[in-house]
Amino acid sequence: MNKHAIKRIVIAGGGTAGWIAAACFAKLIGKHLDITLVESDDIGTVGVGEATIPPLLTLHKLLQIKEQDFMAATNATFKLGIAFEHWRNLDQHYIHSFGTTGKDCWAAGFQHFWLKAEQLGIADDFGQYCPELVAAQQNKFAVMGNQAINYAYHLDASLYARFLRNIAQSHGAKRIEGKISQVQTCEHSGNITALKLADGQLIEGDLFIDCTGFRALLIEQTLHTGYDDWTHWLPCDSAWAVQTSSVQPAIPYTRSIAHPWGWQWQIPLQNRVGNGMVYCSRYVADDEAKQALLNSVQGDCLTEPRLIKFKTGQRRKHWHKNCVAMGLSSGFIEPLESTSIHLIQRSIVRLLQLLPYASVEQCDIDEFNRQTEHEVNNIRDFIILHYHVTNRTDSKFWQHCRQMAVPDSLRHRIELFKRTGRVFKVPDELFAENSWIQVMMGQGLTPQQYHPIVDMMSEQELRDFLAHIKSNVSRFVAQLPPHHNFIRHYCPAA
Ligand code: FAD
Repeated sequence: MNKHAIKRIVIAGGGTAGWIAAACFAKLIGKHLDITLVESDDIGTVGVGEATIPPLLTLHKLLQIKEQDFMAATNATFKLGIAFEHWRNLDQHYIHSFGTTGKDCWAAGFQHFWLKAEQLGIADDFGQYCPELVAAQQNKFAVMGNQAINYAYHLDASLYARFLRNIAQSHGAKRIEGKISQVQTCEHSGNITALKLADGQLIEGDLFIDCTGFRALLIEQTLHTGYDDWTHWLPCDSAWAVQTSSVQPAIPYTRSIAHPWGWQWQIPLQNRVGNGMVYCSRYVADDEAKQALLNSVQGDCLTEPRLIKFKTGQRRKHWHKNCVAMGLSSGFIEPLESTSIHLIQRSIVRLLQLLPYASVEQCDIDEFNRQTEHEVNNIRDFIILHYHVTNRTDSKFWQHCRQMAVPDSLRHRIELFKRTGRVFKVPDELFAENSWIQVMMGQGLTPQQYHPIVDMMSEQELRDFLAHIKSNVSRFVAQLPPHHNFIRHYCPAA
């Protein structure tokens, strides 16, 4: 490392964001750095964020986390996708799975073949050609060698933070408990110089990571970077969260159940269920939303329902001066596709790739912000899609979502798919074609045409092609054990 390199990294906040950051910095580059994390037991964490997506497995590999240890320590279960109930219509459900549906050809995705078969009346449901989706429907799961199945986890957020804290501390990260009462800056450069705690301690640093959650104590309250408000596209602004006892074996997918003014999540862990109601307070009162949640949960409440208020959007600069915002301090899209923890992971990797040498360079900052914004905007579009493409007109909320103007980038994708059945992943985008197609079709968007190359196949060939894929899917799923049986043997919670 350079003689004058960044030496002291200070992480403000010890929620999921703070402890993932501390674990990564300490384990991956900690040898030459002094890493300190400050958190306040009095303030606590947001306490939600329990559904993840498959790239988390990559982070765990980087940190050399043994899957069974992690799962037992966090009461985790496996997740194969998300079931969207009542999103398209009151009586229609679909699953957005992590798997690949069918088989593409070089010119056209599987959806084109399926569309023709559907028109001929010889196709099964689109999802029946995806192993992960069928496994989810049948509550089956097993970890197979060479990643034969694409999956993520449901986990206990508090236990996960503790698990990561152990990794971070075992690699030398220091933890200081206390309330940050002041953020000190240099008059000349505007950089942050130190965090002053309520007990008078001063924690000086070269680079500061703001993981203080919605408070955004450093990046916003101190550096005033500004916020792009997306409420006009993503109007939900509130959530009630409550934990309940399990009444059935854990299913291997998240449930997302639409309501007249929002949606409800159910995240099954080994020992309990995480529940929440996300809603738009313009269309329903807090008390009514809370009651709707309590009326619909199964099992006994293990916690008092907790109200969380938020504003969808992103920080105008994710990195400003010598401060990088991660987690909720950097913005919040919506928990609908479980993307927040993933964005924390991406910010950490990006920061490691752009780690300052002798001093913080503006070109590194600009590149970090450009990449982050690009990634976040694409996820934003994907989330808006779920709300906008719907047949529901039964409430003012859904009427608004159907009619609202959407970003041009999304409008183009919807138009392209509707007219031609085509969809293309843009570079460095999280959600690939298969995700877009599952959600677009699940929400009721059926393309008007299919690719002409499909007509190279005779009807019999098309039949055989689909039957072959389906029998492979059936054979694959048949060999899997029930999800809860697999967990019981593989990684039971302590
Ligand atoms: P927090 O958990 O709020 O942590 C903030 C930390 O800062 C705490 O340690 C606190 O003590 C500390 N702090 C704050 N102020 C001070 C101070 N003055 N002095 C000292 N310390 C301070 N993400 C997903 O990936 N999947 C999901 O399913 C999902 N569901 C969600 C549902 C809802 C309703 C919400 C709101 C979010 C959800 N998220 C989800 C997002 C996820 O919860 C967060 O990305 C994740 O928990 C990280 O939060 P955080 O660490 O940024 O903030």
